[in-house]
Amino acid sequence: SLSDRLSGVFDKLRGRGALSETEVRAAMREVRVALLEADVALPVAREFVEEVTERAVGEEVVRSVTPGQMVVKIVNDALVELLGSTNAELDLNTSPPAVVMMVGLQGSGKTTTTAKLAKRLKEKDRKKVMMASLDVARPAAQEQLAVLGRQAGVDTLPIVAGQSPTDIAKRALESARLQGYDVLMLDTAGRLHVDQQLMDEMNAIAAASKPAETLLVVDSLTGQDAVNVAKGFGAEVELSGVILTRMDGDARGGAALSMRKVTGKPIKFAGTGEGLDAIEPFHPDRVAGRILGMGDVVSLVEKAAETVKMEDAERLAKKMEKGKFDLDDLALQIKQMQAMGGVGALAKMMPGMKGMKAAGDVDEKALTRLEAMMSSMTPGERAKPKIINAKRKIRIAKGSGTTVQDVNKLLKMHQQMESAMKKLKKMGGFGKLAAMFG
Ligand code: GDP
Ligand code: MG
Repeated sequence: SLSDRLSGVFDKLRGRGALSETEVRAAMREVRVALLEADVALPVAREFVEEVTERAVGEEVVRSVTPGQMVVKIVNDALVELLGSTNAELDLNTSPPAVVMMVGLQGSGKTTTTAKLAKRLKEKDRKKVMMASLDVARPAAQEQLAVLGRQAGVDTLPIVAGQSPTDIAKRALESARLQGYDVLMLDTAGRLHVDQQLMDEMNAIAAASKPAETLLVVDSLTGQDAVNVAKGFGAEVELSGVILTRMDGDARGGAALSMRKVTGKPIKFAGTGEGLDAIEPFHPDRVAGRILGMGDVVSLVEKAAETVKMEDAERLAKKMEKGKFDLDDLALQIKQMQAMGGVGALAKMMPGMKGMKAAGDVDEKALTRLEAMMSSMTPGERAKPKIINAKRKIRIAKGSGTTVQDVNKLLKMHQQMESAMKKLKKMGGFGKLAAMFG
């Protein structure tokens, strides 16, 4: 598994400090292999790895996890973000009947998925749904949909022989309008490969029926070919979303990433079996875990991050109880506060803590400067800021590439925080606060 391979790469390295480019690149080579094994198309895997590499270099490694595990977490988060950043609901907000057009290659699962979705819309969303098959290429196709309609309890347009797909679409639309249907589902014909004739047919149907949703149905076992399917349909037909079928099979879900990256359209549903109830909203986190095969690593890193936060909070609380708050604590505190949504947010919740507002203005750059100043100080100075006199200030400013004014600001911030902390202690202590925000 990816986990084994990465521990091979990172056995000797234990998480310390930020991820270096060498570490990230080594991990990414393994991630790339894992993506390809999960059937992510090559160009998609390549581009994804490149993007995530940039994102991962310089990230802090959480204590008690390895750099490899950290990279996996970053990759996982990037995958989830990419797979699911867009709203996946069907948008049927139009004057009825809202047309849902299903497109895709032959055997991808269009007809089955049409019936599944129709059943779901009828039962879950209480819509009045009609289905129509526009597949005149295969003799039994229209009858197949009629059978599924009877199983699902959904009406189908009566079959009339000899009509073209667009004529059937027009007849279906007219019939659905007259009979007051909310939704009209159009099941179209496929081909073995993307070709121009198919695309022309899809566009003619779309022009005749003005679909609210045009859903590309893709077999998740499609693998490397997913890019061609996505490119072909994506370039020629105005898609609104993707449905991945056969997610119940051996598919590792790589097709999902390929489809998402190439079409830019949300994956709205996943087919999970042959039965008419085997459809569910697409779950980006599950599929990301499946692609990486690394669900446990991700939760391990999450737990480790959680533990570190707790440890830091407890350490700080103990020091505070002894009435101590040095510059190291300040740095830690600012980081934690930022993670909690900023000091400003905290200050707002606690009147009488106006002093904290100054610290709330700390931005990323200021934080870097702050860290530079801290590391130009001696441990003694950090522990006892009061000993920092004018001469020491000049030395610290020089060493950190800042000015004496910057050093003064830092010291003032520390004083404000210290007094705020004392007030906080009176109000029930940091432990209480940490429990509220941890
Ligand atoms: P079409 O040619 O695109 O209309 O594909 P069909 O809807 O006729 O489906 C082809 C085959 O795939 C049928 O045997 C379906 O039962 C099966 N199928 C469709 N979706 C799924 C799914 O999500 N899981 C499984 N296991 N089989 C599916
Ligand atoms: Mg079909």
